[in-house]
Amino acid sequence: MEFGWNPSMWASPVPFGLGHEKPGHFRDMARTWWKNRDQLEYATRILKDGVCDGCALGTTGIHDFTLDGVHLCSIRLELLRLNTMGTLEPKHLNEVDSLVELSGKDLRELGRIPFPMVRRRGDQGFTRLGWDDALELIADRVRKVEPKRLAFYLTSRGITNEVYYGAQKVARFLGTNNIDNSARICHAPSTTALKRSIGYAASTCSYSDWIGTDLLVFFGSHVANNQPVATKYMYRAKEKGTRIVVVNSFREPGMERYWIPSIFDSALFGSKLTDEFFQVHQGGDIAFLNGVLKHLIALGTVDSEFIENQTSGFDELRASIENQPWKDLERFSGVDRSEMLAFAELIASARSAVFIWSMGITQHRFGVDNVQAIVNLALSRGFLGREKCGLMPIRGHSGVQGGAEVGAVPWSFPGDRAVGEDGASEMSKLWGFDVPDWRGLSAVETVHAAHRGEIDVLWAIGGDYLSTLPDPEYCREALARVPLRVHQDIVLAHQMFVDPSDTVVLLPATTRYEQPGGGTETATERRIYFSPEIPGPRIEEARSEWEVLVDLASRVDPERAQLLELTDGPAVRRDIARAVPFYAGIEDLRGAGDQVQWGGPRLCEGGRTALPDGRSHFHSVQPPEFNIPDGYFHLSTRRGKQFNSMVQAKVDPLTGGHRDDVFMAVTDAERLGLSNGDPVILRSDIGMVNGRCRIAPMKERNLQMFWPEANPLIPRDVVEPQCGIPDFTAVVEVVARPLSEEIEQ
Ligand code: SF4
Repeated sequence: MEFGWNPSMWASPVPFGLGHEKPGHFRDMARTWWKNRDQLEYATRILKDGVCDGCALGTTGIHDFTLDGVHLCSIRLELLRLNTMGTLEPKHLNEVDSLVELSGKDLRELGRIPFPMVRRRGDQGFTRLGWDDALELIADRVRKVEPKRLAFYLTSRGITNEVYYGAQKVARFLGTNNIDNSARICHAPSTTALKRSIGYAASTCSYSDWIGTDLLVFFGSHVANNQPVATKYMYRAKEKGTRIVVVNSFREPGMERYWIPSIFDSALFGSKLTDEFFQVHQGGDIAFLNGVLKHLIALGTVDSEFIENQTSGFDELRASIENQPWKDLERFSGVDRSEMLAFAELIASARSAVFIWSMGITQHRFGVDNVQAIVNLALSRGFLGREKCGLMPIRGHSGVQGGAEVGAVPWSFPGDRAVGEDGASEMSKLWGFDVPDWRGLSAVETVHAAHRGEIDVLWAIGGDYLSTLPDPEYCREALARVPLRVHQDIVLAHQMFVDPSDTVVLLPATTRYEQPGGGTETATERRIYFSPEIPGPRIEEARSEWEVLVDLASRVDPERAQLLELTDGPAVRRDIARAVPFYAGIEDLRGAGDQVQWGGPRLCEGGRTALPDGRSHFHSVQPPEFNIPDGYFHLSTRRGKQFNSMVQAKVDPLTGGHRDDVFMAVTDAERLGLSNGDPVILRSDIGMVNGRCRIAPMKERNLQMFWPEANPLIPRDVVEPQCGIPDFTAVVEVVARPLSEEIEQ
C-alpha cells in the first residue's frame, strides 16, 4: 500500500465508496485466497514470479517497469484459479448434452481437461485416448489433407510467444498459411493503419510516457475494466499535471473515478480520473476527429515544421477535410462544432500527448479508418517520437501483441514479412523447408470456409468461436461441418460440444506457468517478458501446445521434422530471434524478471519512421454516414467483469449492470416508455435477444449490451475490408416485453 493524501483528487468524501458502484478489491482478494486455499503456496509463487496472464499491460511477478509498488488487479486474481485447480471428473464428458446448458464460468469451474479425449459422430460424449493414439489419429488425417483445407487458430488465453511461433512454423511446415490469432477481433485495424502510416504495427511509446504528458486521451477505451492497473498510471499522471480526456459514447463511471487499491487515499475515497469528456456517437469518431483537425487547420495550430520535415500526404488530407461540411461532421459525430473546438484547443495547447484506443475504435466495419483518423490527428501536432508523446493501441490480452509479431497471421510471416513469393522464399531459406506463398484464411474467413465445407481439419488452441464471433448459430453450423476438429485447451469451452461431422479430439494443454523451460509474452509497450516455469502441481497428461504441434509434425513427416529445430524453450526463442530480427534479445531471456523492450522506450525517435522514406504518412478518411431509421438504435457490444469471452461475474461492478442489461440514455428510455429494469426485446436483421432497460449516461440513439450475450444480433457478413475484423455493432429495434414473454434465442 502506498500512502499519501491528495484530497483534491478524491472521488467522494465518504470512505470506501459507500453509495457508489465500485469493485470490491479487498473482497476479491479474500475470495481469491479462499478459492485457491488448497494451492496457496503455488498460487503465491505464480503471483510472485510469473508474468500476469491477464491483460497486456505486463508484469514481472507483482511489479512492472513503470512505477514502483505493487501491480496487481482483480482480473489476475480471478484467472489464478485456472492455473491452480485440478482436473475435471471425466464422467462429466460422458454425455455432452448436460454440459451445453452450463455457463462458461460453470464449465471452467469443472476443472482442467485431464487427458486426450475423442468423440466420434453419433457418440453422446467423449472417451479417453492415449496421446499416441490421439496424435496418430490426427496425423493420419493431416497427411491426407490438402493444405488449403487445414486451418489453425490461437486465442490469447495466457498463450506465449513460443506457442504462437511454434504453431505458425508447424502450420507452414505442413504447407498451410491458414493460421490466425485472436487479434483478428481486437486490434487488427490498429496493426493495418499504423503499419501504413509509420511502418510499425505497435505502440510507439511506453506507459511511462503517460506520466507527465500534457494530455492523455482515451478513445473508445475502458481501461478501468480491461487494464485496471492503468488507472494507477492515470493517477500518477494527474499528480504530475496531466489532463485526462475521454472520447466515448458512454460516460463510463470507471473512467470518471476509480478506487485504486494500492494507493491508500484512493482505496479509501476513490480518485477522479477524467478531466474532460466528449460524448460522440458510436461510429462517430472519424467525424469528430476530422472536425477537430479542421479546427486545428483553421486556427493555424498544426505543427507545420513536423508536417513539413517528417510527413507526407498532409495537403491531400487538408483538402479532404476542408471538403467535409460541418453539418455532416456534426451529424455523424453527434457533437457540435463548438465541442470539437474545445477539444482542438486542448490539443493545440498541449506540448505533448499520448493517444490510447481500444475496441470502441477498432470493432467497426471502418475500424482501420477510425485508427487512421487518430493517427492523423496525432501527426498533425507532431505527437510522435519524442518523450511523453505517442500512439498506443492498448491490448486487452497478454498474448496478442506477440502473436502477430512472431507470425501467427495468415498474410504475414514472422518479423512482419508479407506472405507472397518473396516472403515465402526468404522464410524457406531461413527455415530449410518449403513455405507456402499463398495468402491464408483469417479466423472469420476460416469459419465461412468451414461453413462451405472447405475445411477438413481445424486445430483450435483455446478460444470459443461460439462466443467470440457474430452469429453464433452460423458458427455452430460451420464447426459441425469440419470432419476433424482438434481443441487444445486447459478447460472446457462450448465449441467443443458442437456435434462432430466425423471426429472431435480434445487435448489437454499446459498453462504458461507449467510450460517446460518457461515462456515469453510481449506487452502492449513492446516489452518482451520472460515468465519462468513455476514449480508446483501438474496435470499429468497436459502438454505444452507448441511441443504437441512439433510432435504432430514429426508424425506427419518424420523424415523432415528435424528441420523444425524446435527442441525446447531456449531453442524456440533462438529461432524467434533469427526469424524476427526486432525480437533480438529474446534468446537471452531465461529467468524471472528478464525482459527486453523491442524498439526501445519509443519508436520513431526524432520523427523518423520505418517506412522507406522515413516519414509518417497521412491518409485521408471520410466519416461513415449513418442513417438510423426513427425508432431504431445503434447497438455496440461491451465487456464487464470478464476476460476475453470469459465472463467472470453476473454483475459488472463498475456500472452495476447485469448481463442482460441494455444501457440506454434516459431520454431514449422515456421516449420508449421504459424505466430501469423493464424487460425488452432487441431485434436486428439477424436475431433477437431478451434484455432489460438500464438507464445510463449513454449518448442518445446509442445502446450498449454485453458481449457475448449480444452476439446473436450482430450480422456475420459485415467486416472491415482491409483487415477482416467483424463489425461488432448492429442497428436494432427495442420493443417493450411483457414480463411473462421471454423469446427463445
Ligand atoms: S492490469 Fe493487466 S497485467 Fe496488470 S495485473 Fe491486471 S490483468 Fe495483469
